[in-house]
Amino acid sequence: LFVTFEGGDGTGKTTQAGLLDAWLREQGRTVVRTREPGGTEVGVLVRDIVLHHRGEVSARAEALLYAADRAQHVDTVVRPALERGDVVIQDRYLDSSVAYQGAGRVLGAGEVRDLSLWATAGLLPHLTVLLDLDPAAARRRLDAADKPFDRLESEASAFHERVRTAFLALAEADPGRFLVLDAAQDASVLAADIRARVEALI
Ligand code: C5P
Ligand code: MG
Repeated sequence: LFVTFEGGDGTGKTTQAGLLDAWLREQGRTVVRTREPGGTEVGVLVRDIVLHHRGEVSARAEALLYAADRAQHVDTVVRPALERGDVVIQDRYLDSSVAYQGAGRVLGAGEVRDLSLWATAGLLPHLTVLLDLDPAAARRRLDAADKPFDRLESEASAFHERVRTAFLALAEADPGRFLVLDAAQDASVLAADIRARVEALI
């Protein structure tokens, strides 16, 4: 079973991925918990470029870097885990590229999706949990966390609005794969909704 968590920065993906991971382990499942960008050694190098490079990274170069990270991750971590029968719980996947590079960077959703599907040889999650939150509220959470911003988190609010709209459009186009949740709710309420959906799949 392949479950991905999507949504803007500060929407609680990491918290929910962790809660689902803990619950599945209690059920005796073998879980591989991973993330993009940065789920492999190559990916850690790519993550450093896309998040911390000081100079300009062109939009197409950025899209290709995320695609390279994803290809390495799927080939060496995700597909082998799924073939073993493990559950893979992943922070961000190809929907993030469609939203951030396709809509945020305005490269176009269709082209970025095609690039991702090439990079992954067509691997799609069984379930994608979209944690939806107003970017202004997400920004307040990030500010409260008091961590230094990465390149993306310091983008203007219009960028983050485009990203949110793109995530919602992706979910609307594929309701069988997506579970869309209002991320302003309590973490425990969100976790229960996610568990119910996962339980129906395993
Ligand atoms: O989720 P995480 O904080 O690890 O993501 C790292 C950063 O990369 C975030 O700021 C996110 O907005 C950005 N990102 C992106 N395009 C992707 C995936 C992540 O811009 N395809
Ligand atoms: Mg982040």
